[in-house]
Amino acid sequence: MEKIMLVPKGTEQFRCIGAACEDHCCNTWRVDIDRVGFMKVSTSSNPVIKPLAKKAYKINSKATSDVNYGSMKMNDKNECHFLDENKWCQIHKELGESALCNTCSIYPRIYRKIGNVIEKSLTFSCPEVVRTLLLQQEGLSFEEAYPQANELIQSKATLSGIPEELMWKVRIFAITLLQERGLSLDTRILLLGIFSDLLSKEPLTEQSVENVISLMNQRLAHSQYVQAIEEVKGNELVQIQLHKELLRTTVEELSFNVRYVEVVNQFIVGLQTGPLEDKVVTETTLQKYMASQKIYQQFNETHSYILENYVVHYVFTNVFPYNSQTPLQAFGDIAVNYQLIKALLIGMAAHNGKVTVDDAVLVIQSYTKAVAHNNKSYKTLRQKIKESNMESLAFLFAYIKTNG
Ligand code: SF4
Repeated sequence: MEKIMLVPKGTEQFRCIGAACEDHCCNTWRVDIDRVGFMKVSTSSNPVIKPLAKKAYKINSKATSDVNYGSMKMNDKNECHFLDENKWCQIHKELGESALCNTCSIYPRIYRKIGNVIEKSLTFSCPEVVRTLLLQQEGLSFEEAYPQANELIQSKATLSGIPEELMWKVRIFAITLLQERGLSLDTRILLLGIFSDLLSKEPLTEQSVENVISLMNQRLAHSQYVQAIEEVKGNELVQIQLHKELLRTTVEELSFNVRYVEVVNQFIVGLQTGPLEDKVVTETTLQKYMASQKIYQQFNETHSYILENYVVHYVFTNVFPYNSQTPLQAFGDIAVNYQLIKALLIGMAAHNGKVTVDDAVLVIQSYTKAVAHNNKSYKTLRQKIKESNMESLAFLFAYIKTNG
């Protein structure tokens, strides 16, 4: 039987824009090279490739398997040695696509196998992916496709021990809720938090998941209940304090991405926060934050589809909420990613007096590349989230809701 692949709409149309890319992926990463890819390039007698391979390809003395048999050293400008003057890959040009190592041939694609279905998506560390997937005003939908032979090989099984049907029920409910445009996006996120909290308190059985979904549907049918969630107020002081703490973690300890550092710098300068390690929040910063929230909200009125698509894609790609110890912890991850992206956009509003679609693309891509796509950064960020006692729903609400 032919396998089915499920993809967010737009995934199959994605094309790398190569030299026109504003943040080429062939820089700053540590690139693991699989044994086969390593041999194809390091043993090549091609006169262009041979000297470059000597400089760039190194055997990894700490390899744990054929997957990380070697690694790639970047040049003095922190770029890949194999890029030509137009930033096209010379391995691809001289030896053909089949000579690319696994890492380079897959990026920016992600594959998972869940049961009989392959799920394919793209990472937002690539700016063209952000434009392709997140700028769909009608919302992100999903479609079926047929995988190529190499896509079958790339797909790794995930989610052992969680029944597929149950996982799908939860994901479908979460995505439908996040796309309920009659409610503000913050309210939809808060409702997702309530849903996650309820799931966390129940055993992982089909009956209890059905009960939680049914309870949520009953609550959503009551306009007064939904209205009460819409009226939840955010706490700006809590938000700024946590933004500073978490952004400090991402920039000072971990990030090497110049574009991301520049975005964080606009947050600092625009809101006059002072050094991120300084816990004091002045009245000036508080006032600027509240004024800039209003500018952000104006942008959000017509462009909330961008962050909606972001969280919908997150739920799909991360197999939410079964990507963490508990559904509520998984929600904490979504909340922090969503809030830090919003915080950086509010910072840009303070710095530039406006927010644009290009700003949203820049923030989401650079944040993903520097933090969410970087295992070390994300681990440290998660540790900070834990220390910040963010497992309480009331705290998360005060943190998430943007007033204005
Ligand atoms: S980041 Fe994306 S668009 Fe840019 S070079 Fe890499 S794959 Fe191409």
